[in-house]
Amino acid sequence: MSLEQLGQQDKDILIDGVWSGAEERAEVRHPYEGAVVGSVPLVGADRVTEAIEAADAAVDASSLSAYDRYELLTAAADRVEDRLEEIAQIVTSEEGKPITEARNEVDRTAQTLRLSAEEAKRQFGEYVPMDPQKGMARDHCFTQREPLGVVAAITPFNFPIMLMAHKVGPALAAGNAVVGKPATDTPLSSIALFECLDEAAAEVGAPDGLINVVTGSGSTVGDVFLDHDAVEAISFTGSTAVGKYLADNSGMKEITLELGGNDPTIVWHDTDLESAAEQVVGGACSNGGQVCNSVERVLVEESIEDEFIEEVVDAAADITVGNPHNEDTDLGAMVTDDEFESTVELFEETLEQGARVEYGGNYGGDLGDRVFEPTVLSDVTPDMPAATEEVFGPVIPVIPVDSFEEAIEEANNTNYGLEAGLFTQDIDRAKQAADRIDAGGVNINTVSGFRTDHMPYGGFKDSGKGKEGIKYATKHFSREKLVGFHPG
Ligand code: NAD
Repeated sequence: MSLEQLGQQDKDILIDGVWSGAEERAEVRHPYEGAVVGSVPLVGADRVTEAIEAADAAVDASSLSAYDRYELLTAAADRVEDRLEEIAQIVTSEEGKPITEARNEVDRTAQTLRLSAEEAKRQFGEYVPMDPQKGMARDHCFTQREPLGVVAAITPFNFPIMLMAHKVGPALAAGNAVVGKPATDTPLSSIALFECLDEAAAEVGAPDGLINVVTGSGSTVGDVFLDHDAVEAISFTGSTAVGKYLADNSGMKEITLELGGNDPTIVWHDTDLESAAEQVVGGACSNGGQVCNSVERVLVEESIEDEFIEEVVDAAADITVGNPHNEDTDLGAMVTDDEFESTVELFEETLEQGARVEYGGNYGGDLGDRVFEPTVLSDVTPDMPAATEEVFGPVIPVIPVDSFEEAIEEANNTNYGLEAGLFTQDIDRAKQAADRIDAGGVNINTVSGFRTDHMPYGGFKDSGKGKEGIKYATKHFSREKLVGFHPG
């Protein structure tokens, strides 16, 4: 499907079963081509309040059984799969990632909905025997799981459809109503997900208002979510600054925060350097490096530094940069001028402080306005900007370390703690890293950026709070009630 066939994507918002626009609209631009590819309404606080109240009424009115919720989520997954190519082209058009990555994202979205559908059937409580307590042999208790009510889902630009599914799938599986708020730069594919969910909801007879999506300024929408008592949970993926603001102001609401990262990957001598280098480059360049758990810092054992850099340069040279709609493109354009400029700034500052370009280093100009080449840096010290900051671009700073102790210290030398990677064949070293790296996930023999949709996923320190992953998020979006039976 070509861009022309896709056509202009002017999407609306969904409140209480009705799709509608607004007087003010925000344009969505193609990151590589610069053209306007669509638009979405920019709504004010009143429409967000309307969506929350519709959702609140729908939870009360909903009599969907677990099986109905399974059917709803399965029907939505079917629709996402039927529209896979169309939605993937939308993802590439609004976000700039290569079409092959966009297809993978849409496929994972459908799988996330299927996993959520299965989880809807597993919302069990437990029998709690009372006889361990003296004189209570005739009493019985059990627990049951109930939905929280209204779950608000706020997502960032970089995986515009999948990250919304990570929240909405589990929230619906647990029996909640949802109000989604996608990123304003990349809202189109997320709204396509809500179109699929809306049709599926009608098919199973869900009440209007169970599924809503609004678009608008993050702070306007976010403040209404924070202030409205009917919002029982906020699930946020995005920057640490906004996450902290939400955490500070969310009072008694449940909150999940999936935030930034500055993930280390350690490469030790006892590993296949060619394979490690390929994975490092893949992990740093996927989605143009605009990934929370991408390879941000490579800590390499000093004795193999030169050999490893050669392998990384070879692997980086295999990356094809260009129009993200081309089938052979590995690296497209960065989402906005701001993201592009921030990468340029951190890269140039790091060079000024003495780092050396081993490969790449070109950006903009003939490559395309927001295109940044895969870039391998050596002579990087841990205090340089490319090492201390989350660089949301394809920059690979290689930092030598002369002992494993130093590698662990450097891995932890950050306020973030999302994920980490370690390449080694030594099981003791692997276990040490697992025990001592202060991050939500430690991946042995692969890079930091490992995530599947069902595994528990979430960072420590400034990288977040709470876990995603279908089972874990579904549990988080429900509450446990104790029911007691007594002899009377
Ligand atoms: P961002 O924080 O700027 O925006 C994220 C979302 O929050 C958007 O929808 C935005 O409109 C909204 N928002 C902005 N201000 C708000 C406010 N005051 N209240 C409520 N919502 C508000 O993030 P971004 O630039 O879109 O995304 C990049 C960041 O997201 C990076 O730091 C990246 O590491 C992080 N991220 C984390 C994960 C993870 O799973 N840990 C995944 C993807 C991205």
